[in-house]
Amino acid sequence: MTDETILQVKGLRTYFNTDDGVVKAVDGVDFSLRKGETLGIVGESGSGKSVTNLSIMNLIPNPPGKIMGGEVIYHDTDLLKLSDKGIRAIRGNKISMIFQDPMTSLNPFLRISNQMIETIVLHQKLSKSEARAKAIEMLVLAGIPAAEKRIDQYPHQFSGGMRQRVMIAMALSCDPEILIADEPTSALDVTIQAQILDLMKELTSRLGTAVIIITHSLGVVAGMCDTICVMYAGRIVERGSVDIIFEKPMHPYTRGLIKSVPRLDRKNGARLYSIQGQPPNVIDLPDCCPFFPRCEHAMDICKTKYPLVHDDGNEHRVACWLYGREGK
Ligand code: SF4
Repeated sequence: MTDETILQVKGLRTYFNTDDGVVKAVDGVDFSLRKGETLGIVGESGSGKSVTNLSIMNLIPNPPGKIMGGEVIYHDTDLLKLSDKGIRAIRGNKISMIFQDPMTSLNPFLRISNQMIETIVLHQKLSKSEARAKAIEMLVLAGIPAAEKRIDQYPHQFSGGMRQRVMIAMALSCDPEILIADEPTSALDVTIQAQILDLMKELTSRLGTAVIIITHSLGVVAGMCDTICVMYAGRIVERGSVDIIFEKPMHPYTRGLIKSVPRLDRKNGARLYSIQGQPPNVIDLPDCCPFFPRCEHAMDICKTKYPLVHDDGNEHRVACWLYGREGK
């Protein structure tokens, strides 16, 4: 990992208009990504992780969704200001994505060869035969046996794990600078999950690709990431290196998430910790700490004002009134 910042998300806000009110799915998210860094965005369902990353790629369906404000600076370009043609030149090329279920990304009616070659020809300006050679090379790297034959098969002829390997090969085939992986292993068996994560880690570190991985699993971020952002109710409540977050978590929500992970060294019969209460309804949220109904440290101020961000000077930032009152 180097210090070169390649992506900066500043004040990103994405809302959805629904019959019940405005859903503030992402409400002021800031983070940056350095060349070669692996950043994990972790949180419960509905915390805004996936919407953040769909916003980065300008893939929010409008209506009902709308990016209300903020900037997504990739090198010197604000991706939110690009035309459709401009963002298409970056999406799948400089920044590519892997989704939870490969069947939703692979076209079941097309052979793998057609799908991979089309992408490579479009973005890499190679001939069809050169693109086919590149596609086979990537399938081999992704651990697909007999790649020269299997490239001409259809998605249904692959197992779930193999389809996800194909997706990884496809996502990395244009040498992207950033790979966004949205719950890439949630649809797979546990043993296959570990293989896919190892493969992603090995390939992206070999190719120097920066990764944003979205997950609800702290195990995944512990094994994969350099940096963690913890999201709650559409905002990042804590950010720090993986070592700092696991050794000295500050936000009560992060501490609760870590305590909820099953551990082999716990006594037999010990009850697994769970965070009390339910995630908040993000429709028309008041501007206070949304975690206060579930927080055992909640104070009066938590119920009336959103906490300012405290920076401990070690690139460890937390939004919680327990840590001083100084601003960003
Ligand atoms: Fe708990 Fe208050 Fe911190 Fe929110 S701001 S996490 S309610 S202590």
